[in-house]
Amino acid sequence: MRVRVLGSAAGGGFPQWNCGCPNCRGVREGAIAARPRTQESVAVSADGQAWFLLNASPEIRAQIEGFAGLHPRAPRDSPIAGILLTNGDLDHCLGLLSLRESYPLTVYATDRVRRGFVEGNVLYRTLERFAGQVTWRVLALGRDEELTGRGGAPSGLTVAAVPLPGQPPIHLRGRLPPDPEDSVGFRIRERATGRVLAYLSGVAAVTPAVRDALDGAACVFFDGTFWSDDELPALRLGSQRARDMAHLPIGGPEGSLAALAAHRADRRVYIHINNTNPILRDDSPERAAVEAGGWTVAHDGLEFEL
Ligand SMILES: [Zn+2]
Ligand SMILES: [Zn+2]
Repeated sequence: MRVRVLGSAAGGGFPQWNCGCPNCRGVREGAIAARPRTQESVAVSADGQAWFLLNASPEIRAQIEGFAGLHPRAPRDSPIAGILLTNGDLDHCLGLLSLRESYPLTVYATDRVRRGFVEGNVLYRTLERFAGQVTWRVLALGRDEELTGRGGAPSGLTVAAVPLPGQPPIHLRGRLPPDPEDSVGFRIRERATGRVLAYLSGVAAVTPAVRDALDGAACVFFDGTFWSDDELPALRLGSQRARDMAHLPIGGPEGSLAALAAHRADRRVYIHINNTNPILRDDSPERAAVEAGGWTVAHDGLEFEL
């Protein structure tokens, strides 16, 4: 399985347009050892021909242009065989609306996430210009689903959605009660090798279900949004703590670095990194701590064979 990180930052990206925190200022001015990052999206493929995007970020156009594997090979064409959505947050699905140029799309999501995007959304009509413009493939929790390649060919990959502790997207909160289908992770399995990529980019806590989702995975992508629970209040960027936003911090005695210390995988990657997170700095002690724990900090363009 080929894996390519298109975007590695949390919502807002790095730097974020309205943020003057030390990280955002520093990367704008070239004063810190850090590189800019676009919002989270990862492309996977078994054969290098049919690609599946994990989330559709608002920066999808630039992300596609920045990776030759996703460029058209005919006058009207796209190697993107499907798009998988982990939840309905705008930083994960707004990019769908940018793919409006009359090309059929296949989107894999829970029914809950599908409804949250489609229902009452007048902008969605731009993806309903012809019959079959969008094919929704509903992911039932825990059930293996075939990922269909281009032209209906087998892609060599299957996906299972696993429920993650999370919350509904901001724009739907209060409209519907929280539901286990609001936020999911993926276990993507390559048929030929049996190798599994576990993709858990938004995790509020390490529950038994989260441990099950990681079990036996050769590669793990995990929620790297915040280093500490009070990261935003400490920088005077509001009152919300990491856990209020359904993100388990990396650091601290209860953080993911400690909680997953005994977990083994060939490759473990923190992704969905908020612009305030000190792991974004190449020379920070927090970066050194995650690397000492066997983790990689995702950056745009990170690519590997699983
Ligand atoms: Zn997000
Ligand atoms: Zn910032």
